[in-house]
Order: sequence, then structure tokens, then C-alpha cells
Amino acid sequence: MRILLVEDEPSAAKMLAKGLREHSYAVDVAQDGEAALYQISIYDYDLVILDVMLPRKDGLEVCREMRALGASIPVLMLTARDQVEDRIAGLDSGADDYLTKPFDFGELLARVRALLRRGEALQSETLTVADLEINMRSKRVRRAGQEIQLTVKEYGLLEYFARNTDRVLGRAEIAEHVWDENFDVFSNLIEVYVQRLRRKIDDGHEVKLFQTRRGEGYVLTAAEENGDSEK
Ligand code: CA
Repeated sequence: MRILLVEDEPSAAKMLAKGLREHSYAVDVAQDGEAALYQISIYDYDLVILDVMLPRKDGLEVCREMRALGASIPVLMLTARDQVEDRIAGLDSGADDYLTKPFDFGELLARVRALLRRGEALQSETLTVADLEINMRSKRVRRAGQEIQLTVKEYGLLEYFARNTDRVLGRAEIAEHVWDENFDVFSNLIEVYVQRLRRKIDDGHEVKLFQTRRGEGYVLTAAEENGDSEK
């Protein structure tokens, strides 16, 4: 899942982005309100983490403007002081949730997970595709009860597929939600990662959950394969 982090304080932005990446999220950083609105207009983010105190345009204005443009992306607002008026203003501007600085990183992660669940109307912390189970809290993956070891990036890719089961995902869409703005569109990284991931998920299992749709992309599905013989 891809997050836009809007924070003008470089050390805080760096630390948060690093922590989120370690938890499998793709992260872009914007350092002021105008840059944030520009980024939101060109990329399809899954979540925005928005500091209130920002140069050029503050977080409240950014939130109001993106809502006015019809963007329904979940917004987690970071407020500096724990003042009731700030929180009310944040929620009134269209934010979905807020955290007061300083906050515990674990709490930020929990809010992020909750907002991403809300976006997908998911009730549980586990995604299930046939006998494949993905725990979004612990990031543990099991198939037929056997734990599968994945790298952070492989996990991020798998979670994105599992949130979009039965839907064919093309390169552009995968790049947009699993990689950040530094992704090289001319590389074959996605193919390499998908092949590696599907080997880990499907090798040794009679039912293959990953399928290739030639010229279109890949799909993760519990439905029986039909007419797809490509390995
Ligand atoms: Ca700030």
C-alpha cells in the first residue's frame, strides 16, 4: 500500500518514512501543503499522513482542498497540541482520524492499518485466499498452515494482491501501489518480484493461486485456473 507522508520537519519525515517502509508500505514524502496537493493529483495513494503545521498551505487547507476535489483517500492528521479545537478542526476539514504529537510509532501503525481496513471495508486483520492466510498486523503469511518467509517488499506485494483478489493487476497499477515515486518504470523489477513471490506461495501446492494473464498482468485468485498454462 502506498502512503503520502506530508511533514516539513526533515528528521521526523525521514524517521517516519523509514519506519513505514520497514513495515512494507511504499512511502513518498511531501514537505509542504502545495507539494502534497500536487502529489495527490498525480498519484493514486492509499493513505495520506498529514501534519497540520506546514509551510505554504497547512494540513487543514490541504485536507479541505483534496476533499473539495473529490478525493476520498483516508487521511490521518498529525496535530501538534492536544487541543480539542485542533482535533475538531481536523475532523471538520475531512480528516478520518488524528494523532497528537508526540506519538508512539506503534500507535501510528495501528491507526494506519485501521484506516486502510476501513477503505477496503475489511473487518478483520487477516486476509484469506483459499488456504493462504495473511495477517496484516504481524505480517505473517501461512499457506495450508505452513509459515512462508517473505521479504518486506514481497509481503507488500502480496498484501496488495490479496486486497484485490480476482482482479487482474497490471504493471502500472502494481507500481503505483507497491512502489514509491523512485520506481524505474523501465525496469523488470515487478516481473522479478511477482515470479519470486508466486514461487514462494504456489510451489509445492496443487492449486496455484497466482495466474498470469498474458498482456494484462497477474491475478491472485482462489478460483480454478482455466486456460492459463503459462508458468
Ligand atoms: Ca510541521
